Parts: sequence; structure tokens; C-alpha cells
Amino acid sequence: MSSEPIERRVSYLGDRLKATCCQICGKEYFEVRDYCGNCGRKSFGKMSNIDLFYDKGKLELCTLVNEPTNKFMKLGSYVYGIISFHNGKIRVSGRLTDQIVSDGETVDFSSLEGREVIPRFRRRCSVGKSDVVPTISLAFTLADEYYPHQEYNVVQPSKEYEVPGIVGYGVYASRFRIKEGNLERAVPFVDEDAVTAAVEAGKLSLIHSGVDSSLVGKVYVGSESNPYAVKPIASKVAQVLKLGEEDGDVQGVDAVDTEFAC
Ligand SMILES: [Zn+2]
Repeated sequence: MSSEPIERRVSYLGDRLKATCCQICGKEYFEVRDYCGNCGRKSFGKMSNIDLFYDKGKLELCTLVNEPTNKFMKLGSYVYGIISFHNGKIRVSGRLTDQIVSDGETVDFSSLEGREVIPRFRRRCSVGKSDVVPTISLAFTLADEYYPHQEYNVVQPSKEYEVPGIVGYGVYASRFRIKEGNLERAVPFVDEDAVTAAVEAGKLSLIHSGVDSSLVGKVYVGSESNPYAVKPIASKVAQVLKLGEEDGDVQGVDAVDTEFAC
């Protein structure tokens, strides 16, 4: 077991940042709950869900975790801080990802605090080869760096077409590069893999097309590097992006992996 705070929070967080709002007094709660502390009993059944997956927050203050413990050691030193959403109505703690902090390097926190950040779907910590990979959306990137924030506005189709066509697309490549002669390759950050990259590409294509995610009927993922031996990448992508119509625990979407994609 790890002593890190993100470890304990994951049980109710899942892969999409969720919160709850009281419809009576407007108070927002980071954890999903069915009653409001202000309003008590009368708030049962009057709590609405808030989805922060496409939202952006503000890094209020941060610190440097110099010596991560247990499963977080592979991350190296990392910046950890308090992120607020909706003008401070919701505050969560999270890790700033895609930042390489060298040993002994000092970080100027004032250059980070007050900046806007976006939740990212990433690996939570490192695991052994046969373990299930834990994922989380409590990793954040700066909203004005590399992956800028884009709003997801669902567009209702105004007409029906007889033939299929492309209405949107999304492209994702990790931020970091290695250079070999004239060749430049993107390399994933330590908390990325084929699943997190596929989710990011899918998220961007939903944003670009404005298609309601519940209308998506099929998702195909091609990769040569599935992090899971027994679980398709596409089903995780469908789950995180809420693709297809939901009926109880069942999502009405075809999710297919193809191997040897390259
Ligand atoms: Zn209330």
C-alpha cells in the first residue's frame, strides 16, 4: 500500500473527475454524494452530477514532492498542488504531469500558481508487469502549454445524410521528443501508454466534431503495444469517453482492437 493521498482518493474518483451540486443551495462537492451538508434531509434526490472531464481548473498553490514513495517513485520528483474548479467551489489535490524536474532542481512555484490547468487521463502510478494498470484523471497539464484547453460543445445534427462522411477528427502525440539524426519521435511521458493516448485522441475528436458521445456506435483502436494482456484498449476508451447509449451498466457501443497496426 502507498501513503500518497491520490491513492486513497481513487476509490470514488474513477477515470473521469466527477462532482455533485446541490440544486437547492448551489453548493458543490468534489466527492459524489446524494445529500448536501447545508440542506440536510430535504436535499436527497436534489443533487445533480457535475462532470469535470472537459473542464479547466486553476492551480492555486503547489509544492514539489522530492522523494516520492512506493509506486510513485518512477515518476521522479513531481509538482503536486491544489486545483480549484468553478471559482473555488470545488478544490482537489492533484499532480502536475508532463513536467520533468531534475534532481536538485528548484521549481519557481510562483510561475505555476494561478495558472489554468486541464485534467488529464493518465496512469496513476507504476505497477508490475502482471498488475492491472491504475488510471486516474487527477493529473493536470497547464492549459496554455502544448495541449490547449478546448471546450466540448455538442452540436445537434440539422440534417440526415445518405452517405457516410467524416465530421471530425482528433490527433494526439505525446509532448516529449527524442532526436536521432534527422528523425524526431514522440515518446510518452512515464504515466502514458496506448490507452491514455487513445483516450486523448478520442476526446479531441469528440470536441472537434461536436458529436454527442452517446451517439457513437463503434470505436476501433489500433496498436502494437497493448498494456493489457486480456483487456482490449477500445473498451477502456469507450468507458472513459462514455461512448454509446448507456443502459444500466451496459454501454451500447462496439469496441474493437486491431493489433499489428503499424
Ligand atoms: Zn444545499
